[in-house]
Amino acid sequence: MKLLKEVLWFPLSLVFILHLITIFGLIWFPINKSGALYFLIMYIFSGFGITVGYHRLWSHRTYKASWIWRLFWALGGAASLQGSIRWWCRLHRLHHSFSDSDIDPYGPNKGFWYSHILWIFHKKDRKDAFTKINIADIEADPIARWQSNNYRWLSLFLAFGVPLIFGEDKIQAYFYGGCLARVLVWHTTWFVNSLAHWLGDDEYANETSAKDHFLTALLTLGEGNHGFHHAFPTSYKNGVRWYQYDPTKWLIELGSIFGLCYELSHPPENEIQKARFQVSERKLRPFQIQSNGLFLPLSK
Ligand SMILES: [Zn+2]
Ligand SMILES: [Zn+2]
Repeated sequence: MKLLKEVLWFPLSLVFILHLITIFGLIWFPINKSGALYFLIMYIFSGFGITVGYHRLWSHRTYKASWIWRLFWALGGAASLQGSIRWWCRLHRLHHSFSDSDIDPYGPNKGFWYSHILWIFHKKDRKDAFTKINIADIEADPIARWQSNNYRWLSLFLAFGVPLIFGEDKIQAYFYGGCLARVLVWHTTWFVNSLAHWLGDDEYANETSAKDHFLTALLTLGEGNHGFHHAFPTSYKNGVRWYQYDPTKWLIELGSIFGLCYELSHPPENEIQKARFQVSERKLRPFQIQSNGLFLPLSK
């Protein structure tokens, strides 16, 4: 009974029903060329709305952007049905400030599936925790404020209304531009909270569970280089090397060529190397202590 009282029924129903409708669509209305195109457009629009907009622009302020760029990705983020900019960024800042603790909304300490999806349905009083998080910069941004205040109608219109209005094949537009793109972008984002804290290396920081892995980067539009991101959250890059798969980084760089983004933030190379060295040193420390204990008395 206690468990039932802790369930948030609206997000649970929304996520469950949308998964069911998507599976129904995949079986009864197999995807055709139009459906693939609607899916791709809506996946890119809403997926980068989260990574380029919600995450690297508003949550971490890793770069600055013109109003047209901010408006476009604010709309993309709304289309992803993941909550408003204000709601999303506040939770994400909690995740970084209190990684792996009980305050972390999607920390890995309650298991893989909790950090992937179950946290969304868990009713939790976060009033005290939110007092530790400053979102004055988001409130000061008129586009972020407008999107957050109008999120409900805006998100439904962009997620389902837009594909239905512009798609000629309405059934394909609904099932693939609307439902499938929503569900896959959800999992894309959720993998950053689950898989990116479970799978991979901790080359740049090992104080938290965040890790870097190519597979997670592939599944998350580049966000899976997550260990580096937790070590340097104000960098606009997650894949630190030019060859590391991070389309979000490449899109921000493209935006900067056209003057749509500017003041891209990235730490100097010596800071990155220092972080790598400190991690290696911390990993070697237990062996040094052990070898001192074991071998020094024998050599006397
Ligand atoms: Zn982050
Ligand atoms: Zn994380």
